[in-house]
Amino acid sequence: MADYNKLLEEIVQEIKPIIGEGKVAGYIPALAKIDPQKFGVTISTINGNTFSIGDVNEKFSVQSISKVFTLTLAFSKLGEEIWSRVGREPSGNAFNSLVQLEYERGIPRNPFINAGAIVITDILISLLDDPYAELLDFIRLLSGSEDIRYDAKVAQSERENGFTNAALVNFLKSHHNIKNDVEKVLDVYFHHCSITMTTNELSKSFLYLSNHGCIPKSKHNILTKSQAKRINALMLTCGTYDEAGDFAYLVGMPGKSGVGGGIAAIIPNELSIAVWCPALNKKGNSLAGMKALELFTTKTGMSIF
Ligand code: GLN
Repeated sequence: MADYNKLLEEIVQEIKPIIGEGKVAGYIPALAKIDPQKFGVTISTINGNTFSIGDVNEKFSVQSISKVFTLTLAFSKLGEEIWSRVGREPSGNAFNSLVQLEYERGIPRNPFINAGAIVITDILISLLDDPYAELLDFIRLLSGSEDIRYDAKVAQSERENGFTNAALVNFLKSHHNIKNDVEKVLDVYFHHCSITMTTNELSKSFLYLSNHGCIPKSKHNILTKSQAKRINALMLTCGTYDEAGDFAYLVGMPGKSGVGGGIAAIIPNELSIAVWCPALNKKGNSLAGMKALELFTTKTGMSIF
């Protein structure tokens, strides 16, 4: 069994000078107050080992990483049918971009840009009796932790400032790609983005994606082997928005980022890894987090390629 403790220490030493470099997401005022010096990494292996360093027990806003959980839930319930309402191509545009949606007539490029995630949220609202409770239960199952909650302040803060997301949902509605009330869709979307988790919980909650759709500890089948492979393909091509090319080039793992500064990534059949450092680069991905993942794959020689 690999001992990743020494490796994590080495990574922290090398990363130290750039921790705090970049900008904390200021467009959600509740997130603007987070200390940019926070940094944590957790590795969870499919055979049950955990290695961690830094602020790994501190909750942070997972933001767009939650889009992996909503997509998984919708995909597990509806299968390939979801692709009639959202595409599977990288967008090459910012995560909250409006332009593409207009000339592609209300079909978002992929489920990880905001427009696509909003459509997935709408699908879940139609499928679930209580989307708020059922989504939390689902993430509790994935992470093996009962302590998974919404952060009402962050959801409220995003609601008060979420004019671009409001524009997206209204535009989607005008193209009949939203079936439910737009206010309800936004509220569920902002809530799932506001979920707080630690890197320990987050890395555990991604293990089903390194293990062909099955949670290694509980043996719970979340997705079929083929569906898990497909979510990984989407994370690789679309999980870090218009930086997905560089993420594949520099890191070489399927991964998903969020503007809370978290990134979760996996190596099939081996492990999952979650990093958190709140200061973001220009594409909205954690600057030090991305570098830490790059160092991880460079030093271990691990890569999906
Ligand atoms: N809640 C954020 C938004 O909709 C999520 C964006 C992100 O994490 N990239 O703008």
